[in-house]
Order: sequence, then C-alpha cells, then structure tokens
Amino acid sequence: MAGKTVLKLSGVERHYGQGETTLSILKGADFELHSGEIVALVAPSGTGKSTLLHLAGLLEHPDAGEVFVGGHACNGLPDDDRTAIRRSEIGFVYQFHHLLPEFTALENIMMPQLIAGLPEREAKERASQLLDYMRIGHRGEHRPAELSGGEQQRVAIARAVANAPRVLLADEPTGNLDPETASYVFDALEALVKQSGLAALIATHNHDLAARMDRRVTIDGGKVVGF
Ligand code: ADP
Ligand code: MG
Repeated sequence: MAGKTVLKLSGVERHYGQGETTLSILKGADFELHSGEIVALVAPSGTGKSTLLHLAGLLEHPDAGEVFVGGHACNGLPDDDRTAIRRSEIGFVYQFHHLLPEFTALENIMMPQLIAGLPEREAKERASQLLDYMRIGHRGEHRPAELSGGEQQRVAIARAVANAPRVLLADEPTGNLDPETASYVFDALEALVKQSGLAALIATHNHDLAARMDRRVTIDGGKVVGF
C-alpha cells in the first residue's frame, strides 16, 4: 500500500559544536517516507527527533548527506527555493499550537492559503472543509482561547495541511494532551492522511499512538532504524 517516496534522507549528518567537543546527533541517517503512510518517530528526549524533523522540513541544513522533498535534492538550493518548497510541500505541527490568538479557527486555517494567493472565498471553503474533516466544523468561528487543547491541536493540523502539502511533520503534537484527547486528535489526523494521500512523520512519546501508526522508527547511534 506504500505510495511513492515524498521525503528521503540520505546519509544525513548533523553535529553541534559544544565548546571544545562536538555532539554528533545524526551520523549517516537514512529514511524514506511514502505518500499515504503515517510513521511514528519514537526516541528518548535529546536523541535528535526535533533535529531530524527540522532537517526534513528544510528549516536546517545537514552537515553532510541530502534531503529530498518530492524528488528535489534540497541541500544545495538557494534559500528562496527551499522556502518555496517548504511552503508548498511541507506542513508543520508543534506541541503547542501557535495559532494566532486574535483570529478565529477558520481564519487561522485561511491565513496560509491567502498568503499563497488563493481568493478568500476558496480559502474559506477549504478551511471549513478541513474543520469538518477534523470533526470540529462547528467551532470555526471561535478564537483559540475559546477552544479546548484537543480542538486547538486539530485546528493547528488543519492549518498545517491548508495548502495541501505532501508531507506533514509533527513534533510531539499530542504531548500536551491527556491520553483520551490525544487519541481523538490522532483519529482525525489519521482520517485526513488516509483520505488525502498525505504522508506524516510524527515524533511522539505516546506508545499507544505509535502502535496505531503504519511503521515505527527510532534514532539509534545517529541512524534511523525501524523497530
Ligand atoms: P529531541 O527532539 O529528541 O529531544 P533534539 O533534536 O531537540 O532532541 O536535540 C538533540 C540534541 O542536540 C540535544 O542534546 C540538544 O541539546 C542538541 N541540540 C539541538 N539543537 C542544538 C543547537 N542548535 N545547538 C547545540 N546543540 C543542540
Ligand atoms: Mg524535540
């Protein structure tokens, strides 16, 4: 059932200098993500999950190796091209929602579409469709502060996929939620991925959620390995 490769890390290295010493986080990491699949990234704190997601999302450059998004080798590209690829191909979700507090849920989801140049009517239609997929269609007119934690995260997921990226990268998206709410949020995310052919890489500490994903990988010895 695996679709085509939408994200590929090949021989990726990332080292951080710490005074006299060097901290090697990734040492030749290889990974492929396919459309239609959800992969759990499960590893202890400090092993490099966020680092891996930032590299995959073109927010950082690897020290060696290559990151391919939708078939493009991205490392050597000018920053403008990397930004354009990131905006069109990649959606991000963080542990904390980072929604704009003065705008409604609907407006938060419309925003990236308006920035991308979509007419307001189309952006609004797509935003309310996404809220429906996330099963919070009735919450569109509420501001983030009026939503529960689980609802906020579902809005954040809808916003991340508003411009129909190929890849969704999520950094502990349910880390701030109770297990039952985390499960609801994951249900919605799963439905979205399966109906849209999106691919998702989700860093999580929640083993119940990881067990429900298509595959599980961890970071061991600076490499990405399945388990
Ligand atoms: P995780 O998300 O798995 O908790 P991170 O990717 O955030 O891990 O960090 C991996 C390691 O790299 C940690 O030891 C962290 O302190 C270190 N690190 C992350 N970013 C930097 C940076 N910009 N400079 C120096 N060290 C960093
Ligand atoms: Mg992290």
